[in-house]
Amino acid sequence: MPLRMSSLFVRTLKEDPVDAEVASHKLLHRAGYIRRAAPGIYTWLPLGLTVLRRVEEIVREEMNAAGSQEVHFPALLPAEPYQATGRWVDYGDDMFRLQDRRKNDYILAPTHEEVFTLLVKDLYSSYKDLPLSIYQIQTKYRDEARPRAGVLRGREFIMKDAYSFDIDDEGLSASYETMRRAYIRIFDRLGLEYITVKATAGAMGGSETEEFLHPSEVGEDTFVRSPGGYTANVEAVTTPTPEPLDFADVPAAHVEDTPDTPTIATLVAAANEQHPRADREWTAADTLKNVVVAITHPDGEREIVVIGLPGDREVDLDRAAGSGALGAGEIEVEPATEADLVAHPGLVRGYIGPGNSIDAPVLGLEGSTGIKYLLDPRVAQGSRWITGSNEHGRHVFDLVHGRDFTADGTVEAAEVRTGDPAPDGSGPLELARGVEIGQIFQLGRRYAEALGLTVLDENGKRAVVTMGSYGIGVTRVMACIAEGNHDERGLIWPQHLAPADVHVVATGKGDEILAKAEEITAELEAAGVRVLIDDRPKTSPGVKFGDAELLGVPTVLVVGRGLADGTVELRDRRTGESRDLPVAEAVAETTRFVDEQYAALGAQRTGR
Ligand code: ATP
Ligand code: MG
Repeated sequence: MPLRMSSLFVRTLKEDPVDAEVASHKLLHRAGYIRRAAPGIYTWLPLGLTVLRRVEEIVREEMNAAGSQEVHFPALLPAEPYQATGRWVDYGDDMFRLQDRRKNDYILAPTHEEVFTLLVKDLYSSYKDLPLSIYQIQTKYRDEARPRAGVLRGREFIMKDAYSFDIDDEGLSASYETMRRAYIRIFDRLGLEYITVKATAGAMGGSETEEFLHPSEVGEDTFVRSPGGYTANVEAVTTPTPEPLDFADVPAAHVEDTPDTPTIATLVAAANEQHPRADREWTAADTLKNVVVAITHPDGEREIVVIGLPGDREVDLDRAAGSGALGAGEIEVEPATEADLVAHPGLVRGYIGPGNSIDAPVLGLEGSTGIKYLLDPRVAQGSRWITGSNEHGRHVFDLVHGRDFTADGTVEAAEVRTGDPAPDGSGPLELARGVEIGQIFQLGRRYAEALGLTVLDENGKRAVVTMGSYGIGVTRVMACIAEGNHDERGLIWPQHLAPADVHVVATGKGDEILAKAEEITAELEAAGVRVLIDDRPKTSPGVKFGDAELLGVPTVLVVGRGLADGTVELRDRRTGESRDLPVAEAVAETTRFVDEQYAALGAQRTGR
């Protein structure tokens, strides 16, 4: 059955949604694919659902081909399993929590590791049952702090999540590799460019993990790459620790008056003017900047931490939060507020330092303020610094790390910059933006241990199962495809994902034209070509063409005025090219053209 514009449940719109910043969001809304129900929560209309199903089908086929079996969990789950693993707390505000009428705690699941683990525990008991890989394509709920860009970052979204269960590490590595290859096939088939990057584990726990990032300006992730092939999410970039420096010649630390120097720039200027250095000018990189951040832990506790880093670098709060050094779970890190500083009078705004001698620390858990002090790894042992003296208008010079001050540890909190060295020595880093479309994790035994998933091994001993978890954002992937396939007039779907193969536009007066368009449509459908026909009787050609461009079916067949000369017009929405076809050849030629488009994408028309 063809789709008919006369009855299809769709309204195309002229206005962009008010909150839209990115093209895919605007166009999916205006073309009637999605409709906002609440912030970050969307209703899927028939055209949107059709494309979504096609994306899902590719994911499903490749998961099945990789030996994973489809299951389906509820989205509404009891809290207990998540309490057992600690994620009830660790997931923080992102988790939707609710209670039933008996006041039992429930969640709308943001991800399903716990219940997959318990299901396998329920049913399996022997190493002979393993390995096992199961997955679902299902709705997830996350109360994102900043839902944005339509379904790109929703609070309700569809994820394909798969979980592997193995008896040993070797098995887990093999399962992980299998999923990695399946992901590559999925993104290749979807025609989505991706790179894989090392990532941080976040609230998931576990060790080896990679993200699949789709390079795109609308992405929220920043990743790095080096000429030698190093790639990583900017959050996972590690800073090479420099060799200790010899400080034998560095004079003893001395405090100097530096009035009106609350910023690095004013400090550097004052240092050069009043305390010049013999060999060269002081620069921002000679100063040790101490930045106060406030951490909100998953249990709601607020903690103040000071981060020391070279004065020519800024703190990257996301890197700090993802580093693991500031706390476990989904922590929030923000600049300390005025109130935080008031509450900690030992911190003298603009003049904060670790303390002027190792015997009298100010920062650090051993120091007078008792505030944790963490250093950027680039602050080498033996390096000398100009830094705050904890007195208004004064700084300390020649303060040596390891001689005059120490810290409680290091933190990867400094921004990564273009030109920074790759940690593996493969050259200078370049930065780019991307959207995370998938992530694969070697979880290890964390969930199995917490929930008691063991099986009997070959020797009849209890062994803890080792797990992997593998996600793809299905609705997000569709948004990425829309983002990468549009122009100013509308969407331009890849042929194999389009809601129809051909958009037949019947334009012009007279029953004859519509009759011919209907006849061609019926023949195309009979040949297994899916048609969306614009059969609206009283709609102008301009509106019909505008809608066809907006909706984005890549192949358009115009049945109109040309019919008088025995021709119809085949338009390629991608290139804008068009050519006239003799009516008698319309069906065969259009079918051939559509098949060519499928073949170019490595896909095949199925007629569904
Ligand atoms: P992000 O860093 O973008 O918030 P995440 O790392 O929290 O994502 P995972 O827990 O790894 O996400 O979830 C697996 C996949 O689900 C992600 O790779 C992404 O494609 C998708 N996804 C995650 N959050 C959302 C969301 N709010 N809306 C749409 N898709 C999402
Ligand atoms: Mg992720």
